[in-house]
Amino acid sequence: HGLAELDDLVVGCRACPRLVAWREEAARVKRRAFQGQDYWARPIPGFGPADARLVLVGLAPAAHGGNRTGRIFTGDPSGDLLYASLHRLGLASQPHSTWRNDGLELFGVRITDPVRCAPPENRPTNAERDTCRPWIVRELEYLRPTVRAVVALGGFAWQALLPALGAAGWQIPRPRPRFGHGAHAALPATDGGPALHLHGCFHVSPRNTYTGRLTPAMVDDLLRTAAATAGL
Ligand code: SF4
Repeated sequence: HGLAELDDLVVGCRACPRLVAWREEAARVKRRAFQGQDYWARPIPGFGPADARLVLVGLAPAAHGGNRTGRIFTGDPSGDLLYASLHRLGLASQPHSTWRNDGLELFGVRITDPVRCAPPENRPTNAERDTCRPWIVRELEYLRPTVRAVVALGGFAWQALLPALGAAGWQIPRPRPRFGHGAHAALPATDGGPALHLHGCFHVSPRNTYTGRLTPAMVDDLLRTAAATAGL
């Protein structure tokens, strides 16, 4: 399938010099708890089936999370929360994701990032976001026959997604829909196909969960709603 080839291709990307340096530096220095591990230290492809109906979009991999384990949202507290929620909803085969190839399967769901390499301070520049955009546009084009709902995890994902969805074949409403937890917009398909439901969810980062701004119950509710609009 074309999407699997795209996943293989993105892993070789070196288009952003600052991010290439950062992802490799994290792998050299490592965290103390991970000293014995071989970090992935490359771009992180999307994860989940090529015929997904629901797509979750984050920000970028964490230097010692996805950049270490080689799978998106894997090996960090954000992912622990996200995969536990997906498992409670019957959308994942296990409640945790510890390493690429740990046997985890997602059911009807794909997870991806608008920036595929770990950035310093989890903050990509606008130029890096724009350089990476063609990867998520291609991915969304491959998913287009089946995808019916997208969840933007955080304002960065929301802002990055709107132009990507526009390029991949959906109409962006005017005025542009604003991000918020529970925000929802229906995007008509430019070819007259089914509309795409765009949902906003606070990012599942420790900054939001440790402060109680986002609770596991809120994530469950949001993902349950999104899954329903996706027909899952
Ligand atoms: Fe390539 Fe995206 Fe990584 Fe930049 S962030 S090097 S465009 S994969």
